[in-house]
Amino acid sequence: MFKRICILLTIFCLWFNFYHKDNIVQRVPTKTYRYTIPDLVANESIENFVRDSLGQTPPLKAPFIKIKFAPLHPRIGGLTTEVEEGVYFIQINSIYPLLSARRILFHELVHVLQFERGWLKEYPAGIVYWQGQLYTWALPWNQRPWEMQAEEYTAKLFKN
Ligand SMILES: [Zn+2]
Repeated sequence: MFKRICILLTIFCLWFNFYHKDNIVQRVPTKTYRYTIPDLVANESIENFVRDSLGQTPPLKAPFIKIKFAPLHPRIGGLTTEVEEGVYFIQINSIYPLLSARRILFHELVHVLQFERGWLKEYPAGIVYWQGQLYTWALPWNQRPWEMQAEEYTAKLFKN
């Protein structure tokens, strides 16, 4: 009797182990990229933009930007948050290949420029200020003037 229980328990453990492993494998995307944040920023046009457009001559302070990979919605490539004045947090979705992720980062850096210049401001209750006018986040992405400008700058200045 004891032997049978042991055998059954072993079978259950083996099954559970395989089943469990299988479950984990299913949740990992089939294609994963192994690039790092330094790989992401290793691009001349990004370096130039950070130095020439976001850099400041003392005593003015250059913005502090922290970039991290984040599990964003698959359709969202990046997200820029102004944590406080002059401090920014950029989240990058690493499900995209390196070259696409670099372009996404450039686009997000344009948002940093927009915040730094005071063109773009986030107000409570979903209100967005853009160059003298108020909008809400309800405005579709492709109609948001700050997104249009970010894309325009990226198309013009970003080189892979
Ligand atoms: Zn954007």
